[in-house]
Amino acid sequence: MEVADGNAASAGTLNPPKSATRSVNNESVQVIVRCRPINQKEEAADCSTVVNVYAQRGVIEVEHPKSKSESKIFTYDGVYDWNSSQQSIYDETIMPLVSSVLEGYNGCVFAYGQTGTGKTFTMEGGGNSEESKGVIPRVFDQIWAHIDRTTGTEFLVSVRYLEIYMEDIRDLLKSKNSKPLELREMSGQGVFVSHLHSQTCQSAHDMLKAMKVGNHNRTTGATNMNEHSSRSHAIFQISIEMAKGDTKSVKVGKLNLIDLAGSERQAKTGATGNRLKEATKINKSLSALGNVIYALAENSSHIPYRDSKLTRLLQDSLGGNSKTIMIANIGPASDNYDETIITLRYAYRAKSIKNQPVKNE
Ligand code: ADP
Ligand code: MG
Repeated sequence: MEVADGNAASAGTLNPPKSATRSVNNESVQVIVRCRPINQKEEAADCSTVVNVYAQRGVIEVEHPKSKSESKIFTYDGVYDWNSSQQSIYDETIMPLVSSVLEGYNGCVFAYGQTGTGKTFTMEGGGNSEESKGVIPRVFDQIWAHIDRTTGTEFLVSVRYLEIYMEDIRDLLKSKNSKPLELREMSGQGVFVSHLHSQTCQSAHDMLKAMKVGNHNRTTGATNMNEHSSRSHAIFQISIEMAKGDTKSVKVGKLNLIDLAGSERQAKTGATGNRLKEATKINKSLSALGNVIYALAENSSHIPYRDSKLTRLLQDSLGGNSKTIMIANIGPASDNYDETIITLRYAYRAKSIKNQPVKNE
């Protein structure tokens, strides 16, 4: 067995329970991995399940499709198998982050992984039932439950929704405004998208409506939805301004919720020369994200945030003033073995990124 993350231990004797590293007060990027169920297509193709999830220890083991004894082991802040509920992932990992945002911190959750591994299922949900609700609608519920039980504070909640497709930024809340938007930088405000529509919300329902409008605009703007969603990054931004009546002190909590483009083409960055150039052109932002994560993990003196729109927007979330959670999505089937290993290595690297979150007040 190869211990891919450098922990010299076997699956049976690995690491103490992960609970000590789960708190969002920890300044490292928190990385969790979720493995979706095997699907009908994979079953029909006689694919075997090569992924084992050891939730208690935060361990994922991936067996080589041709040799069970050649397995690779990775450890994360949390791991979730195909039976894990949307609620358990939310309660154990996202809820503490949103609580911090409600205290005035910046937060970021991004879903990473190959197309078809459950990024959208995790972030938005997998249907209309209560239990299938994903991270984003659960965030809405948590915010408004907090507002409803808090007295003496005025809240102003607003949302923005944008996508990055082929390095163009589009406002998903204003479909008519199809001209790509520009990034701006201002001291004290950091990097932001200029002229991005901001919509004030009075309830969880308002926020859900905004999410649905944005998703609809994403679909209708695209000629091939699958191709489009696998190549574009969708970023849902929430801002919560909190004003205490007596002291007039204002706190602001900001949260970025991101469904990234499919990582499969990123696999090609292992290539060199023309193939590397091609992969970079196909999704400059995703390649740049990989380079930023790599540079941060290596403690480089230069972090190439400026290489893409996505990394400029995420500058605070990676190596900056934010509490950040990465959800790496994988599939269990043998025919995804290579992509799964690439995703797990990528996610493992992100664990060593350190942020410096401070309250905005
Ligand atoms: P992605 O956004 O990464 O391309 P999707 O979220 O669209 O992937 O998921 C692909 C398919 O797998 C969808 O039909 C989705 O409903 C299903 N799926 C993904 N994750 C799960 C899960 N944890 N449990 C059940 N079905 C899932
Ligand atoms: Mg998707």
